[in-house]
Amino acid sequence: IQEEIVRSEKLKIVGDMAASVAHEIRNPLTSVRGFLQLISSAELEPAKRAYYTGICVEELNRAERIIADYLSLAKPEPECTERIDLNEELVYVANVLQSYATYNNVDIQLTLRKEEELLALGDRHKFRQALINISKNAVEAMEGGGTLILRSDRRAGRGIVLVADSGKGMDSEQIKRLGTPYYSMKDKGTGLGTMVSFNIIKKMNGKIEIDSVVGQGTEFRLSFPPIPK
Ligand code: ADP
Ligand code: MG
Repeated sequence: IQEEIVRSEKLKIVGDMAASVAHEIRNPLTSVRGFLQLISSAELEPAKRAYYTGICVEELNRAERIIADYLSLAKPEPECTERIDLNEELVYVANVLQSYATYNNVDIQLTLRKEEELLALGDRHKFRQALINISKNAVEAMEGGGTLILRSDRRAGRGIVLVADSGKGMDSEQIKRLGTPYYSMKDKGTGLGTMVSFNIIKKMNGKIEIDSVVGQGTEFRLSFPPIPK
């Protein structure tokens, strides 16, 4: 399955998102209110009280995750544009994710093309955030463990960053829905991570290509135009 994804339409969605974020947050708040009312009734047995309290905390965590993901998308921060060394960022992300990977039985295989500088223009911190989101999804796709490949390369003058996993893969319908708000197949997912990431890469004039085979794994290939010396 080979899909090249053009995301300009996605930016228009941001406006509509405020309404749907409000909706997404109202759900957990409503259930927390309900459970708090139950908890406050005097005759409740302690085991149930503890159980309901746990649900409240979970629901509030969920609301918080939605807000955090949304804010990182909608923040009207001035975009800073700097020369980003793709190799440096891959090393950074490999380090940041090391303990998460180990915890999930995932080996990180980092392969850098070093003979020439690979650069892209953008905001370094946002680019990291995008890479971390994509790589975390890769780790999460490998339920019994596996290998996360992080690789840099150059093709036709473009700097390439590859994030590949040996995880469960996606079919073409699932690939199409990537980057659309609230598409998540996870119990505790927000479905905002890929949307945030794709917007960041798009702002860098980057291209995103995705190859995936169900049951075998997925490869995200990000590529960036050459920049003037
Ligand atoms: P979340 O991680 O909160 O579910 P994301 O926007 O980060 O939200 O991802 C959306 C969905 O895309 C995930 O729930 C998952 O089903 C799918 N996905 C993303 N990356 C991969 C991958 N590398 N392998 C398989 N599925 C993936
Ligand atoms: Mg995610």
